[in-house]
Formats: sequence, structure tokens, C-alpha cells
Amino acid sequence: MKPLANLAQNLRWSWHRPTRDFFASLDPQVWDEVGHDPVAFLGSVSTEKLAELSANPDIVNQAQELDRGLSDYLSKPLWFESEFNNADKPKAIAYFSAEFGITAVLPQYSGGLGILAGDHLKSASDLGVPIIGVGLLYQAGYFRQSLTREGWQRESYPVIDPDNLPLSLLRQQDGSPAYVSIPLPDRRTLWAQIWVAKVGRIPLLLLDSDVAKNDEATRLVTDRLYGGSKDHRMEQELLLGVGGVKALRLFSELTGAPTPEVYHCNEGHAGFMAVERIRELMNGEERLDFGTAIEAVRSGTLFTTHTPVPAGIDRFDRGLAQRYLSAIEIPGVTTDQILSLGAESYEGGDPNVFNMAVFGLRMARMANGVAKLHGKVSRGMFHSLWPNFDVTEVPITSITNGVHGPTWTDGRLAELARGHQDPGEHVNTYRWVRPASEGGVSDEELWQLRRDLRLQLVKDARRRVKASWLERGASPAELAWCDEILDPDTLTIGFARRVPTYKRLTLMINDPERLAAILTNKDRPVQIIVAGKSHPDDEQGVSLIQQLVHFADQHGVRDRIAFLPNYDMDMAQILMPGVDVWLNNPLRPLEASGTSGMKCALNGALNLSILDGWWDELYDGRNGWAIPTADGVDDPVRRDQIEAAGLYDLIENTVAPRFYDRDENGVPRHWMEMVRHTLATLGPQVQAQRMVSEYVEKLYTPVAASSRRLNALGHSDTRSLADYKARVRSAWPQISVNHVVSEVGDTATVGDEASFFADVQLGNLRPEDVEVQVVFGRVTPDDTISSFQTLPMNCVGEENGLFKYQLVTTLKQAGPYGYLVRVVPHNDMMAGFTELGLATNAERASDSPEVHFNFGS
Ligand SMILES: *Cc1c(COP(=O)(O)O)cnc(C)c1O
Repeated sequence: MKPLANLAQNLRWSWHRPTRDFFASLDPQVWDEVGHDPVAFLGSVSTEKLAELSANPDIVNQAQELDRGLSDYLSKPLWFESEFNNADKPKAIAYFSAEFGITAVLPQYSGGLGILAGDHLKSASDLGVPIIGVGLLYQAGYFRQSLTREGWQRESYPVIDPDNLPLSLLRQQDGSPAYVSIPLPDRRTLWAQIWVAKVGRIPLLLLDSDVAKNDEATRLVTDRLYGGSKDHRMEQELLLGVGGVKALRLFSELTGAPTPEVYHCNEGHAGFMAVERIRELMNGEERLDFGTAIEAVRSGTLFTTHTPVPAGIDRFDRGLAQRYLSAIEIPGVTTDQILSLGAESYEGGDPNVFNMAVFGLRMARMANGVAKLHGKVSRGMFHSLWPNFDVTEVPITSITNGVHGPTWTDGRLAELARGHQDPGEHVNTYRWVRPASEGGVSDEELWQLRRDLRLQLVKDARRRVKASWLERGASPAELAWCDEILDPDTLTIGFARRVPTYKRLTLMINDPERLAAILTNKDRPVQIIVAGKSHPDDEQGVSLIQQLVHFADQHGVRDRIAFLPNYDMDMAQILMPGVDVWLNNPLRPLEASGTSGMKCALNGALNLSILDGWWDELYDGRNGWAIPTADGVDDPVRRDQIEAAGLYDLIENTVAPRFYDRDENGVPRHWMEMVRHTLATLGPQVQAQRMVSEYVEKLYTPVAASSRRLNALGHSDTRSLADYKARVRSAWPQISVNHVVSEVGDTATVGDEASFFADVQLGNLRPEDVEVQVVFGRVTPDDTISSFQTLPMNCVGEENGLFKYQLVTTLKQAGPYGYLVRVVPHNDMMAGFTELGLATNAERASDSPEVHFNFGS
């Protein structure tokens, strides 16, 4: 039975259906009892049963075959090794996140951020990308949600048992547990042991403070996810960041794993990893100075921001940060110097705050948001860090989120797909969706599948509603109605997510009577299944849940709308495939990406959503519906009313009629066109494999290249970059653009030649230290530039201490034109000319009327 233990210990079972089916087949009842957890399952089946199983050659064969399959998966060359040929590709990447959602069995996530991190690791494994995950092991994870009689959320915190989970302790050579420690204020020490989870090929290190070496208080540092006071939060983040780097070092030392070249900070929580890496470099053999250490650390860091909601960003009081950071002594650096890296030292910032996102951005070589629109919103949100540049130049790019196909595609759909696919053909091509006449799936088959998935959901929802009412204090005798709620042939809308205010859980009950009428429509009834947890400290969110449950409890509608408590990955895996329509109505543009709608799309459910997050870029008019937004309306009550009305109209006049429009065989042909189109076009795009390969190509590889150069032995380039920056910063006030002339009229046309001349004062700097640029583009009537090019000028001489610059170019767009001459730092070791945030624009002189558009802040 050794193969069984192997299979149970690698979390690949969480996305490998044959392995799960095999465990289930051994003892279906025990499998259900242990919540589909192979390790707990093996701990629960009796020894007699195990003996009986191991005497059955069929079973032994199957187990061995699955185990061989796993070994093969873990060892064969995959995309990263065999197809991605780039000399700069990283040897290893550390991926830090405060939460990881891999399976409901390991409840270490609160919502989208964690599940995204889990999907990132799984897809990295599938692609062979050498990531090492770093996180915390929370004793109670996030909370379990139930409801009171009146519909209020109630939280409980069941404690996990790491010994019954697919985790193993990192141990020293002598077999004793390996520990990391970090200093806390008042000469206290926080110790942590390190659990290793195997996510396919990816090791995930989870730090756990629940060890005997800690005092009572520090044992509780990793008690739960996002709980407690600011001090508690600070201790968790120090453990994640500082302790995480130490854990990586121990892991490399004990297992021979490569040292990461790239450090990916998934949201600000793990930002303190930079502090520890600076400490290592300053304390190490080379004794780097602070400036050089910063450059070395930055060169290998990637920061991903996940929220445009200010409340979602971690900010600590300066005093608190000071107290904790001063405990981490780094010879040669003052705590104030570290604090200044996270200071909101810009217009509109709060000088008494240490901001983890600002710190993350300042310490990163590259940064990104998680959808195109979110990239744009983030550039606006963090513009104050680069005030001398136009908002479009803020160095934050975007990579649109994706979801892990094998985790989020229902097994039956995957099976149907296999039946219409050539052997060896990649599932992500979605060729199986081609018309039946070309060998693809037929409408009838696909519709039958959609009906099966809906039925599966309805049954699951009935069971959950009944169990919930039992917890709410109802007696079994009064709950017969729960077996009849919802209907397997009714248009089913789903809505489930965390409940921060901006996601507007209660928009659907904005006009309760209108919603009731839609639900109970005689000819075209609609049913809605809702779920979501609110952070316990978010009073507003908790109250929104109560309002929704209160509505759903009413007799007239209770068989048409159901709130399912305790939203988690298990529920999601039945809910998303089972709905016909997935509803998302955030307050635009506050949804960074959203991923639940992607999971639905993978299963042929259609999205009905505000044009926000991923939907803003992937909605194409045929794959679902866009709820109109009242963007300009400032009164929030009014805005909700308008958007709710738009939602009701869409459901009543467009969605329901299409769903109920059937041909003589009862198949909704129009609907199925949309289902097919969704699968064929969104299927390949919403994959986390697409996302991870973009991270590898666009971010990890360039970051690895700079990391390699700036962390080379001796750090000579790094020192020269740090010197350069110090020199440029101090010389910058002397820079000016004194005289600008252009030979281009406002009305010149495409193909005309344009010439620019400028005299530039460089102070102590040399022409090779800077780039003098013409920013050139069309001017709109309000004197702003609409789309511009940035062209470097050539230095053609020096006269009386002034450098002469010149540029001759051909016009590529029609006017009217405007331009600006500016000086920016230039050094090929920097990620780009915005890196230092410095730019000097030509003065608006009356003798150079062309310099007339608004630029920068
Ligand atoms: C996918 C998922 C989420 C994320 O949902 P969003 O659409 O990003 O809000 C949250 N919770 C669970 C359980 C999920 O499966």
C-alpha cells in the first residue's frame, strides 16, 4: 500500500480525478465521512480493510499504475524545460502569498487571492515552472460560516490537524524539526516550524508558530487568517516575509533546492521579505552598503497588486512599524531608513503610515495588476509615486488572471470533451466544441450535460439548505419543504464571493418586489443560488448577508432563492458548473479581476456581469451579457437603483426569453450557441496556464536576467548602479532645459519632417547619464496629449556648459501636434527611465508656444 501513501501525500490528487475516484472506490462511505481527504481516509480505514485491499491484485495494480503516473508527471520534461527556450529563464522562483487555496481540505484561503495563488502553483506544476511557494499554516484557517435563526452570520474556527493533512515537517539531518526564528520587540523571539506541502512538482513551505519553543502569545501568531489586531497582523507579516526567506534558505540547505533568482510578492502582505534579503546582503561576506543591497534585492523582485480598494491595502501606523522593525537589527541601517521605503511621502499620502503596497512597489523591479482595466486603475492609483510622468507611463503592467482548468472543470464535462478529441490533443484547444458535423459535440449532448450539472447543483443546494436550517434551530419535522426547493429545469443564476461592500451582494434585492416577480414568473421562472462569507469585522458585510438571507427566508420566494452557508472550494466546484448564468455586479472599477466567472465559463455557464475586471476585456457580445453601469452617477443609492434596474431588465427581457426559447426537441438552440461560443473562445483564455506562461515570459524571465546580473559575485554592477542613482539624485536639481525650438507647424501632415532642438544644462552629470526626450503627440482641445510617442534626442555638441540636443523625425500621425522636451535618467541596468521617478520638463517659455500640453501630474 506504499503507492497509496504516495498518492495521498502529493496534493496533485486535488486536481487528478482518477486518483480521487480510486480513493472513493475503496470505501465510498469513509471517503465521504473524511471530507474527501486521502490522508485522513488512510487514517480512517480499518487495518482489516487495508489488509483486504492489499490482498486484491486488481486494487494493487490500480494503485501502482496511478503511482507510476504520478512519478511520470513529476519527472517528465514539461513546457518550461522543453519548449520555453530562453537563456535568461529563472532557475527558481519564490512565490510568497498570505493565503493559498489548493483544496477545501487545506482551508488556508479566504477568497479569490488565495485560490488564485493555489491555481498559480498548480499550473506552474503542469508547465514545469520551478516555483517554490511560501506561506503560513493557520491553525484554524479562515472561519466556518453558519447562520443564526435570524440569518446573521456566525463564525466558528475548527482547528486543523497538520498530522492528518498532506504535509510533512521540514527536518534537520538528525531528524529533529527545523526552525526559523525572528526577533520581536522587547527581546522576544518568534519561532516557527516549516510544513512542506507537495503541489504536484511545486513545494509549498508553510510556516507554523504553534510550537513548544514559543510562549503562549507567540504560539498564536498563525492562529487564523486575517484575524486579530494590527500587532497580530504585523507579526504574521513579519513571519511570512522575514521568516519566509529564512525558511527558503533552510529548505535549500536541507534538500538541495536551488536558491530563487526571482521573488514574487503576491500582494503586499509578504513585503518584509525585502527587509530580510537586505539584512542577508549587508551581513554577508560582501558586506554590501544599504544602497547596493537595495539594488540587489530590487533586481530580483516582482510585485503583484490585487486591489484598487484602499481598504484592501495593508497600512500600519508608523509607530507600530517602527517598534517591530527596530527589533530586526541591520548594522549600517537605521530603522528610519527602512521606514522611509514604505512611507507615503507624496502628495495626498499620510506621513504617519507604513504602506505595504508602496513598500512592495518601491522594492520591486517590475509590478503588475491582474487584468487590463486593473492595470490602468492601478497606474492611476499609484501615480503619486511617479508624479513627474504621465499616468500611462507608470511602470505597472498587467497580466490577466486565470483559473486552473483541471481543478475547475467538472469531471463530466472533461469526459464529454475527451470523447470528441483526438488522443494526444491538448484539452486547452477546446476543439471538441466544434460543430457536430465536424466531429465535435452535438447541442443535444451538451444540453444534456448542462442539465445534469444543474441537477447535481440543485440536489447539493437542497442538502445544504436543510443542514443549515437544522443548525438554525429548526426541527427535522418542519423541514420537508427543503427537499422540494429549487427546480432542476429552471433557469439558474449563481452569485457567490466574499462580501466586501463593493461587490454588492444585495444589489439583486434593490427592488425586492421586482425580483420576487422575476423569480416567480409563471412562464419563465428564475432561481438564484447565493453564497459568501463576510470578514467578521466588516459590520456592513455581515449586515448585507443578513438582509439577503432575510429575503430568501420569505415563503413566497424561498423555493426560488437560496443562501448556502460556508462558501468554500468544495461548494464552488458544484455551484459554478451547475448554474446557467453567473452574476457579478461589483461597483466598477473596484473588481481587480474576479475569477469565479472564469470557472463558470470553463463549464459552459454564461456570465452576466458589470464590465469590470476580466469581463471588461473578454466580453465580446456573444459570450454573455454586460450589465450597464451608471459610471457618472455620484449618488450611490441612485447608482445602485439604475444598475439594479438594468440587471432586472436584462434577466426579464433577454436572458430568460433566450433560455426558454426551445426547439421541437426541447433544446434552446440560441442559448447553446452562446454556451458553445463561451467554451470555444473563453475556454483557452481563462486558463491559469496561459496566465503562468505570461508571468514566465513577460515578468519572471526579465526579472531573472536583472537578478542574475545584479546579484553576481562581487556585486560590481550593483555597486555602480547604486552609485549612479545616488549621483543622479543629488545632481538632479541642477538639470534644466533652457531653450527649445521646433520646426513643425500645428498643421503639418503625415510624412512631413519635424525637427527639434534643445539646450540642456546637466550640472555634474554627463550626457550618457541621461536621456533627453521629445514627447510628441496629438493635442486635444483641452490641451492634453491624447497619444504620444517618446523619442530620444541626440547630443550633438557642447557649448558654454550647455549640451545641444537635436532630433529629426517623420510625422506618423495627423496633427494638431504638441510636444515637450524632458530629461530623464538613463542607465541600462535600470528597468526603465521611470525607475527613479525623476524627470525635468522644459519650462513653459513664451517663446516656445509648441510646448503647450498638460503632462505629468
Ligand atoms: C473562485 C473563488 C473565489 C473568487 O471569486 P471572485 O469571483 O474572484 O470574487 C472566492 N471563493 C471561492 C471559494 C472560489 O472558488
